[in-house]
Amino acid sequence: KKYVYTFSEGRADMKSLLGGKGANLAEMTNIGLPVPPGFTITTEACKEFYLAGRQFPAGMVEEVEEKIAWLEQTLGKKFGDPNGPLLVSVRSGAVISMPGMMDTVLNLGLNDRTVIGLAAGSGNPRWAYDCYRRFIQMFGDVVLGIEHHNFEAVLEEQKYKRQVQYDNQLTAEDWQQVIEKYKFIVRRETGSEFPQDPKEQLYKAIYAVFNSWENDRAIVYRRIHKIPDDLGTAVNVQAMVFGNMGDDCGTGVAFTRNPSTGEKMLYGEFLTNAQGEDVVAGIRTPRPIAKLQEEMPDVYQQFVRICTLLENHYRDMQDIEFTIERGKLWMLQTRNGKRTAQAAIRIAVEMVDEGIISKETAITRVDPGQLDQLLHRRIDPAAQLNVIAKGLPASPGSASGTVVFNADRAENLSQQGQKVILVGTETTPDDIHGMVASQGILTSRGGMTSHAAVVARGMGKPCVCGCEAIKIDYENKQFTVGDIVVKEGHVISIDGSTGQVILGEVPMIEPELSAEFQKLLQWADEIRTLGVRANADTPEDAAKAREFGAEGIGLTRTEHMFMAQDRLPIVQQMILAADPEERAAALAKLLPMQEGDFYGILKAMAGLPVCIRLLDPPLHEFLPNGEELAVEISRLKLTGGPAAELQQKEELLRKVRSLSEFNPMLGHRGCRLGITWPEVYAMQARAVFQATARLVQEGYRVEPEVEIPLVIDVKELAYLRQLVESVAEEVKQATGVAFHYTVGTMIEVPRAALLADEIATQAEFFSFGTNDLTQTTLGFSRDDAEGKFMQPYLEKKILAENPFIVLDRKGVGKLMQWTVENARRVKPDLLIGICGEHGGEPSSVEFCHRIGLNYVSCSPYRVPVARLAAAQAKV
Ligand code: ADP
Ligand code: MG
Ligand code: MG
Repeated sequence: KKYVYTFSEGRADMKSLLGGKGANLAEMTNIGLPVPPGFTITTEACKEFYLAGRQFPAGMVEEVEEKIAWLEQTLGKKFGDPNGPLLVSVRSGAVISMPGMMDTVLNLGLNDRTVIGLAAGSGNPRWAYDCYRRFIQMFGDVVLGIEHHNFEAVLEEQKYKRQVQYDNQLTAEDWQQVIEKYKFIVRRETGSEFPQDPKEQLYKAIYAVFNSWENDRAIVYRRIHKIPDDLGTAVNVQAMVFGNMGDDCGTGVAFTRNPSTGEKMLYGEFLTNAQGEDVVAGIRTPRPIAKLQEEMPDVYQQFVRICTLLENHYRDMQDIEFTIERGKLWMLQTRNGKRTAQAAIRIAVEMVDEGIISKETAITRVDPGQLDQLLHRRIDPAAQLNVIAKGLPASPGSASGTVVFNADRAENLSQQGQKVILVGTETTPDDIHGMVASQGILTSRGGMTSHAAVVARGMGKPCVCGCEAIKIDYENKQFTVGDIVVKEGHVISIDGSTGQVILGEVPMIEPELSAEFQKLLQWADEIRTLGVRANADTPEDAAKAREFGAEGIGLTRTEHMFMAQDRLPIVQQMILAADPEERAAALAKLLPMQEGDFYGILKAMAGLPVCIRLLDPPLHEFLPNGEELAVEISRLKLTGGPAAELQQKEELLRKVRSLSEFNPMLGHRGCRLGITWPEVYAMQARAVFQATARLVQEGYRVEPEVEIPLVIDVKELAYLRQLVESVAEEVKQATGVAFHYTVGTMIEVPRAALLADEIATQAEFFSFGTNDLTQTTLGFSRDDAEGKFMQPYLEKKILAENPFIVLDRKGVGKLMQWTVENARRVKPDLLIGICGEHGGEPSSVEFCHRIGLNYVSCSPYRVPVARLAAAQAKV
């Protein structure tokens, strides 16, 4: 078995074996770009490492030895040779990139002897000792597990002693002193000397990189981004090049297009006289890449050429790392760059226009899950804002929240239901949980490619970076801008699209779709075959849904209409009626109101189908709470309140109690209400048809679908269908208007699914109510599951996903598939859709496409998500 590949032996499509970084280093090497030579230890070696209980697989070390010898020969340098020491980086490289989550060690091969040789040989002792101290620091942190702050403190002390602000202002002598202190720290923390043998250093570093696959922050990152835990990481060993040798050196990061807006322009940052991590870690605030053009025009030209070449080669926006050593450019990494939803859309659309990719490819370039970002509210441009500072617009969107200065605190407060903004000088991978818990992130240092910025963009969280005007005082938990003091607990807002930091909360406005977004969605519509409808209960929602491209309404819930303040008493009167006459009186009052509701919705959706569900929820939802009522009654008794009121309340309580159920979810609800109280469904049907007749008369094209919920048997449906049909006939007679409608049912109980072929004979359409179908199939009550036992089910991996969010294909999906197949056998043209929350969830949409549904229906704001997901399912 082959565990090690030199860069020239690999290719871009060997990602799963070589990891993303290794595969792309290989690809760049093979297309002739300047890449320092090196080799990759495969992810397979890592997997076997774990299988063997964290031991290198047999044969791996021999292969590494061989490749080291090759590197030594190629470069004319030798591990441990003071007259020309080979120095390498040992870099992690997962299959799916996890920026900053795993570990890398630079300058490996230095020790007390080689550093002297390097200093003398190069005539640049400041550089040599800077490399050595960096090496001890990184190796100490990554391999020996010594906490970073130990080293940080020494560095700060040295800078303070010298009265300098930045690392690069320290001299060779300073670094020598720092190195002695670092070595002392290593001795103190580990009980042994810093390892001097380069081979020992190498294998310890490889071991640590393998190990870092299982470190806490990598595990958290994989959980958040749904990356499988068993992919393992590759290890890249690569000859060092140096950006820290002087002012004709530097290091930087660039995107071939703006990752925030998508604009086509080289977008990046660099630092002169610096090494690798410096740019990302926010140690000094780096300078925009355009400045490189002034300082090193030749290098800049070459770099621009390479960027264009890479973008065309990969046909996607690239995120590139480079280093300049003594005026020579070296490429250290390229990958498809992470981007905001806004940027993803613009880049995809423009690349189609530029002829780089096809429309089909463009559709796949935007993650539907990411679109939420654009469908979020943003700061009202007309609002008066109290802007106190401006930083870099690192990740778009706006957020308000109370200020916190620490990730743990952010997590705590957020668990208590508070909205927080995490504020810090910079963030590190250890702050991930706090970032997840925050509404937005504000840092005072670091650029657009700093850790905070990259991670925030990945999470779709608003972020403002490098806001140097704010001075953070961790001790007193506050920051100041001039003489404004903002303490922990104060509310601020940030706008990640402009970089503004604003005091207090700000008014937000509703989102709109940009021209590019519309264009992409139009392509999606051309490609997809699955219909997309919206769930909407009001004319306003219906109008919004239409604006977002809904092709009809898949679910109008009528119960919300019953909940309105002015209607509830009438609804209660209907429920509590002592006899049929009293009930008829209440229904007569409700009829014109319902007719008005349906009129508005049908009109807003004129020309498109509207599915209206008859009353569904358990009745107790419309009644006052029994316990509260009982408390009121005892208060009335104690205070000797009016006897009439007391009597009325007691009567009400008796009714409420008589209607209370042990398990309302499985109780008197859905079509069971229609079976016991046909007059209620008859009233609703009449309201639908009278509204329809009126609209038809006014010249609108309307076609209601009357939906019977919670059916378990064809006889139920036949009975209620007849009821609906006879009402329709009456309305046609009375109005003299001819109109068209259909009757169908929801499939939300396993029995209905199992008997789909029978039920289909009485239905023109089916709609999967997957919220209830998931509850009834799993026997999980959603509200109880999510609060109590869902988490352990997910953590223990009994369930891969929360089935109330991502459709449970294995169980619920099987019932759906059965339903579709059997129903269509009886009625090939049966219209079948889905109206549960799953209808707007991308992977569930894909499943619905696969089993041949006609449409998905989701909340209006998720309609664009579903349109895109439906197109991706087709591509
Ligand atoms: P990450 O995945 O966290 O970005 P990398 O392995 O890419 O980690 O390395 C961290 C930093 O070190 C990057 O800025 C990279 O460019 C730099 N670096 C890695 N290897 C070398 C090398 N051989 N010579 C110079 N710089 C390097
Ligand atoms: Mg990198
Ligand atoms: Mg239901």
